[in-house]
Amino acid sequence: MKRLLLLGGGHAHLRVLADLARARLPGWEVVLVTPTPRQIYSGMLPGWVAGHYALEQCGIDVARLAAAAGVRLLLDSAHALDADGRRVETGAHGSLDFDVLSLDVGSGSPAHAIPGAHGHATPIRPIESFVAGWVETQAKLRPGRPFDLVVLGAGLGGVELAFAAHHRGQREGWSHLRVHLAGSGATPLEASPPSTRGRVLELMRQKGMPWHGGRRAAAVEAGQVLLEDGAALPADACWLATGSAPHPWLADSGLATDAVGYVRVHDTLQCESHPAIFAAGDVASLRAALPKSGVYAVRAGEPLSRNLQAACRGLPLASWQPQARALYLVSTGSRHALAVWGGSSWEGRWVWRWKDWIDRKFVQRFNAGAGARP
Ligand SMILES: Cc1cc2nc3c(=O)[nH]c(=O)nc-3n(C[C@H](O)[C@H](O)[C@H](O)COP(=O)(O)OP(=O)(O)OC[C@H]3O[C@@H](n4cnc5c(N)ncnc54)[C@H](O)[C@@H]3O)c2cc1C
Repeated sequence: MKRLLLLGGGHAHLRVLADLARARLPGWEVVLVTPTPRQIYSGMLPGWVAGHYALEQCGIDVARLAAAAGVRLLLDSAHALDADGRRVETGAHGSLDFDVLSLDVGSGSPAHAIPGAHGHATPIRPIESFVAGWVETQAKLRPGRPFDLVVLGAGLGGVELAFAAHHRGQREGWSHLRVHLAGSGATPLEASPPSTRGRVLELMRQKGMPWHGGRRAAAVEAGQVLLEDGAALPADACWLATGSAPHPWLADSGLATDAVGYVRVHDTLQCESHPAIFAAGDVASLRAALPKSGVYAVRAGEPLSRNLQAACRGLPLASWQPQARALYLVSTGSRHALAVWGGSSWEGRWVWRWKDWIDRKFVQRFNAGAGARP
């Protein structure tokens, strides 16, 4: 019996599992290694922080999907990969050999890049740890005592989480909670059209959320964040949303990686250096450099699934041409959101309802019936 090893329960692998539930691979044992039986959907995480969703509404039942697909689930993490030896080292399950490997492990946290962040900041990844961190932070919010939360990093995740925490504070009557957003760019969401960036700043001003732009964080200490120009921001809590970083164990795997350390793949999602290994989502680096975003991780699911099935059956692989542009929906705390498509943007409560519908549908289509076509 040959073995297809799926590493990580990320967006693309959800599709692989759903497809395997409909068409199994005769003669192959399929094993999924991922640390948690549930995958919290990042698109709904700010809505959970804001108080719009219960956590259960944001979770995809990976264990159920795996069971329906006849896939052996090992709740574990890989800490080493030997691409030449076709072996993955895990924490509790030891060494796992494979004939074909698929990586959808997302990206790691860049916490090591800022001195002190490791001990004094809460990275937004892994999401399960962030969830525990926000629950702990809420317990520390004492009425009458000012509490400053600094969100470091003003990309999509940082902006949405800052607005969400502010909204939660308003909703719960935590008038002593002040949410700061800090980023190295002149405005938040630097990759967005000027109208979107201007609107984000305007909304922050209206809500009384300070913006600390144009400076990088130099260090995170107990009670404060130091910026590179010497300014110190009071910080009873600090969230680290400064982007993504490749998992460190990829560096010693023998896989060809890009300059940052992500795995280089052909447009078949096959690794450039090792044809029996595939990668999709944040961990993969295509020639058409894609943003690290859930949109592309989801889109990669269908071609990954098709090509894994083909590789295991000895059939030819097909190329994937990712879409050139993606729609981004940015929630702004209350049930309001901005939509960004290329150089255009829109906003309103209707955008939030649209986002809410898309996000719920994404989660439900995997939870509703493991065999349902995503
Ligand atoms: C707060 C927030 C909001 C966001 N909002 C959006 C948005 O609105 N739109 C958008 O396009 N993008 C958004 N993103 C980005 C998006 O979440 C990521 O780009 C996307 O999750 C990447 O998907 P993935 O499948 O590559 O990996 P992930 O979804 O990160 O999944 C990786 C999986 O691998 C597992 N894993 C990790 N390490 C190991 C290991 N060593 N061994 C085994 N398993 C492992 C993890 O537990 C997880 O199950 C947001 C991110 C955050 C944090």
